Amino acid sequence: MDPFTYSSAAVRVTFGEATISRIGDELQRLGKSRAFMLADAHHRDGAVRQVEEALGANLAGISLDAVMHTPVDVSERVTAMVTEIGADALIALGGGSTIGLAKAIAWRTGLPIIAIPTTYAGSEATSILGQSEGGRKTTLRDPRVRPLSILYDVNLTLGLPGPLSAASGLNAMAHAVEATYAADANPVTTLLALKGIVALARALPQIVAVPLNKAARSDALFGAWACGTCLDQVGMSLHHKLCHTLGGSFGLPHAETHAVILPHAAAFNAVAVSDVLGAAAAAMGASDIGVALFDLEQQLGIPTSLAALGLKESQLDEAAAIAVAEPYWNPRPFDRKDIRQILDDAWRGRRPSVQEKLS
Ligand code: NAD
Repeated sequence: MDPFTYSSAAVRVTFGEATISRIGDELQRLGKSRAFMLADAHHRDGAVRQVEEALGANLAGISLDAVMHTPVDVSERVTAMVTEIGADALIALGGGSTIGLAKAIAWRTGLPIIAIPTTYAGSEATSILGQSEGGRKTTLRDPRVRPLSILYDVNLTLGLPGPLSAASGLNAMAHAVEATYAADANPVTTLLALKGIVALARALPQIVAVPLNKAARSDALFGAWACGTCLDQVGMSLHHKLCHTLGGSFGLPHAETHAVILPHAAAFNAVAVSDVLGAAAAAMGASDIGVALFDLEQQLGIPTSLAALGLKESQLDEAAAIAVAEPYWNPRPFDRKDIRQILDDAWRGRRPSVQEKLS
């Protein structure tokens, strides 16, 4: 057999409806009694109240301060509040930005996290913390920031607008697509990656068509967990590097940037790893991964070009320079010219084709 190493994390994951009501049990299971909640402002009058009622005196404080890309100054300010209050656990209720703030605090304090994710970004399943400071985004891996318990509650996702659902689902699919060709991929992560791609490719068009479709929303949450778990287990490549560059240095929106870049990064890499990306395309019911992803995005009605996200054509050279500044592994070698071409295709929103690149 092909040799490989697989190590799994001790995480408790609960899927279902109204699972938020189990927050007290989860806190107790961790042996904690003084939680501090990081919550997305969108949930201020709904889910936040539910947690307040469920925990009563066991909820020591709440912060609605999370913003995108986890700026260090916000993390330090809220960490000071958490320490001052003497909290013994963190609850993260919201999307990747809120979970990011909880992770930043956990990294600084060692407190355990219970995550209640309400988008499909997949951050709740990882030990990765991305932070931004001075216009640069850096990431680190530390098991202390991986939530110990995840409560997926489909009811909390019903209000996530179609375009946000689509973009965040594509963000999750990006983890899975890159996991298929990771240098440290193994049969378990590949299986999860393909399962995640199938679930999200099937669910997202249904969610955009009927946002209250609970079956599709549940499917998407499973996909988010599967894809996020892949991100946790294996290394990422070109696609994630480009997105970190565009988000960290040019302030582009995270999920939408992933959605725009993914078809182009996948098409570029498919030339080198046609077997695994062929399997990923097949999981979407297609033969060409770049085309399949691009067409899915068009069907979902989300932006397909960097220009539509506000990047100026004059910024492409600088973006390419930053993206190649620190070497990292990718299944297909590349130079600055390749990156500039990928960025140009993504900026214009060209429909990619692996077949064209092969010929
Ligand atoms: P987000 O958390 O910024 O949320 C996007 C918007 O959706 C916000 O306006 C929020 O208020 C709203 N929202 C969230 N849940 C909602 C709901 N159920 N209904 C209605 N509105 C809702 O976006 P995101 O895409 O979830 O996360 C992006 C961030 O996550 C980035 O900073 C990214 O770096 C990070 N991320 C980290 C990892 C990791 O492993 N470290 C993985 C993926 C993403």
